[in-house]
Amino acid sequence: MTSAVVVGAGPNGLAAAAFLARAGLDVTVLEAADEIGGGTRSSEALVPGLLHDHCSAVHPTAAGSPALRALGLEEHGLRWRSAEIDCVHPLDDGSGGVLLRSVPDTARLLGPDGERYRALFATPVRHWDVLAHEVLRPLPHLPAHPLLLARFGIPTTLPATALARLFRTPRARALWAGVAAHAMRPLSRPFTSAIGLGILTAGHDAGWAVAEGGSQSIAYSMERVLRRYGGTVHTGVRVTDQRQLPPADVTLLDLDPGQAAALYGDRLPPRTRAAYHRFRRAPAVFKLDLAVEGGVPWANEHARRATTVHLGGPLAEVARTLQDVVAGRMPERPFVLVAQQYLADPTRSAGDVHPVYTYAHVPYGYDGDATGAILRQLERFAPGVRDRVVAQQAVRSAGFAAANPNFTGGDIITGAKTTSQLLLGPRPALDPYATGLPGVFLCSAATPPGPGAHGMCGAGAAEAALRHLGVRTSGLFDTA
Ligand SMILES: Cc1cc2nc3c(=O)[nH]c(=O)nc-3n(C[C@H](O)[C@H](O)[C@H](O)COP(=O)(O)OP(=O)(O)OC[C@H]3O[C@@H](n4cnc5c(N)ncnc54)[C@H](O)[C@@H]3O)c2cc1C
Repeated sequence: MTSAVVVGAGPNGLAAAAFLARAGLDVTVLEAADEIGGGTRSSEALVPGLLHDHCSAVHPTAAGSPALRALGLEEHGLRWRSAEIDCVHPLDDGSGGVLLRSVPDTARLLGPDGERYRALFATPVRHWDVLAHEVLRPLPHLPAHPLLLARFGIPTTLPATALARLFRTPRARALWAGVAAHAMRPLSRPFTSAIGLGILTAGHDAGWAVAEGGSQSIAYSMERVLRRYGGTVHTGVRVTDQRQLPPADVTLLDLDPGQAAALYGDRLPPRTRAAYHRFRRAPAVFKLDLAVEGGVPWANEHARRATTVHLGGPLAEVARTLQDVVAGRMPERPFVLVAQQYLADPTRSAGDVHPVYTYAHVPYGYDGDATGAILRQLERFAPGVRDRVVAQQAVRSAGFAAANPNFTGGDIITGAKTTSQLLLGPRPALDPYATGLPGVFLCSAATPPGPGAHGMCGAGAAEAALRHLGVRTSGLFDTA
């Protein structure tokens, strides 16, 4: 029987493993941590009964991901849940940009900018089921829907600050900037609209969903698919030398390029090795989990009902914070993302005490304490919140790296989304998953289409591995 080894049981490693097992391979997954899931782990902490996501929290790109849909995760226990409002970007005067699942409803709330918003998103959202297959895969491919792809793709080339000029109101501009900020790049750079447009389009299709019972449920459901097809997972096995790997026909690495380079050393072709060593990292995050009695008393009424709240003030302020963190400076008022998953999934709360998830963008490797800066940003938009905090817990850059070496320096998006890394992954090649070593592939979020719990990097790498083995891949995304 043809065999595969997958190193790392993050969402991409598990997706790759499940696709390979479904294709008939004998699959073994080796995971360093005691728990599977990588960036999709959750646990009870702070207050008994309160469930916190360690990393991924809200899933606009995962809930409708072609890879996760094809694996039929909902038949294996995964339940996506959404709150009434997907995302709010409050401003200091109490107003704010509000994102709803439906494009027309969002447009209506954007007032004078509504028509332009609708014109930008209505078509790509209507066709996202086919467009997702074009957008969430490596750039070098023959598009099946070239016109649709071009319609979606042209605005992605723009700097986010240029695309923002479409809008006239501060709230529409701020809403756009907050979503574009997920790229963690200065918003004046080309292609910084790509991630924002991808998140917004996917989110209008499937919602900014949370996984019922915590993001860990995403990993558990993938593991169930894998086991159904005979795959096995070994936890507590950190692979640092390729001699630890059992013999296999293909090996897939759910690792950042630095770890892959260290694992194979001189055996990697010199060009791959050089590219992996040159791989650029993104800024980091500083996470602060809170237990909040009665929830956050947002001044903006919509924010009280939203899964995600972006705290960064107007567009110019968001842009400045990104310039700062990329340049290695800690902003006084950092961009803060707040997730209130319990609004979509009430099982995560204990009575009237709710888990509130926050992180701030900070410079790569930042070892300072951003707790005060995060609480000040919260207090700015939700006066009185501090008095409701009954427990808190911070995770610094070093904490992320210790839990998962892929997040070295606190970089949670597995590499800077510079134009070349965004479009081509860690090295320019027709196959961005190939390492140049026959049968060895990278499948982590360092590869296209990049970060998120969508499993599409794993699916793409599994497809590349199957092609290498001469296995037909045309039905890969068919639902089993
Ligand atoms: C704080 C934070 C917030 C985030 N928020 C979101 C969000 O809201 N929505 C979203 O979609 N995404 C979010 N993400 C990003 C998302 O979690 C990642 O992009 C995703 O987990 C990447 O998946 P992966 O499989 O490529 O790698 P990982 O999730 O990094 O998994 C890699 C796995 O490999 C294991 N491993 C590493 N090195 C070795 C080794 N040497 N040997 C064996 N095993 C090894 C690790 O322990 C880990 O289990 C967030 C991430 C973080 C950290």
